[in-house]
Amino acid sequence: MNRLNGKVAIVTGAGRGIGAAIARAFAAEGAAVVLAELDGASAEATARAIAQAQPGARTLAVPTDVTQAASVRTAVAEAERAFGPVDVLVNNAGINVFADPLTMTDDDWRRCFAVDLDGVWNGCRAVLPGMVERRAGSIVNIASTHAFQIIPGCFPYPVAKHGVIGLTRALGIEYAPRNVRVNAIAPGYIETQLTHDWWNAQPDPEAARRVTLELPPMKRIGRPEEVAMTAVFLASDEAPFINASCITIDGGRTALHHE
Ligand code: NDP
Repeated sequence: MNRLNGKVAIVTGAGRGIGAAIARAFAAEGAAVVLAELDGASAEATARAIAQAQPGARTLAVPTDVTQAASVRTAVAEAERAFGPVDVLVNNAGINVFADPLTMTDDDWRRCFAVDLDGVWNGCRAVLPGMVERRAGSIVNIASTHAFQIIPGCFPYPVAKHGVIGLTRALGIEYAPRNVRVNAIAPGYIETQLTHDWWNAQPDPEAARRVTLELPPMKRIGRPEEVAMTAVFLASDEAPFINASCITIDGGRTALHHE
């Protein structure tokens, strides 16, 4: 349980869902964790829950809007003040924007890119100078299987997620000589509020849920903890030669042509 001992990590969007699971797993592995989350109350609640479940865990909730570069820089400064230099950043905050391309509003397009791509870049550029200087660091970007496969009606989310993979590879190559690793995780369907919101927005939510559970060859939906385990691995010293890569967590779904 000490795989991240001594490390300082920031997880964006850590108030709930996959981000909260990553924050819990990081703390369990000995990292000091900053929960950088838009909703300050949910970040506080998650930080408190971690502290209760794991006495001695070091957590800090910092209200953060990843769409604002200055807000992310503040989160990094708070992390450094509380715990020291940042070793790990998980760019997890993300939103679903699913629209028809031709009827989508400009605002939808901008909102999607502001969170799902600019947000990742804002995180990277806030921690990279320190990581490059120290010649050590691991950035983990939460992409999606939408980063390489398209579902009709989900525009422009997959466009932004394709960008996350491009950003991961570009920065991974750019900073490899300075020993800073940049990787991505591409989850398939994972059961979080995001997924429930999507089911509930469908004409028949229960039918939509059943279809989701039937899609992966393993016939189930993923759990946030299953993404968190991979984030721990990529953040840890167990993955020193994994860089500019993406690990898919979808029970084999994207490898399947059809049944
Ligand atoms: P949730 O909606 O459950 O959690 C996302 C969190 O990010 C929320 O706490 C949300 O805060 C926060 N957030 C939203 N906007 C911002 C912002 N501007 N700044 C800081 N925090 C913000 O989503 P998931 O846990 O399901 O998803 C996490 C990541 O995983 C996302 O990048 C998503 O695209 C990706 N993903 C999820 C999949 C799934 O099936 N669940 C599948 C593939 C990828 P608030 O509550 O205030 O909105």
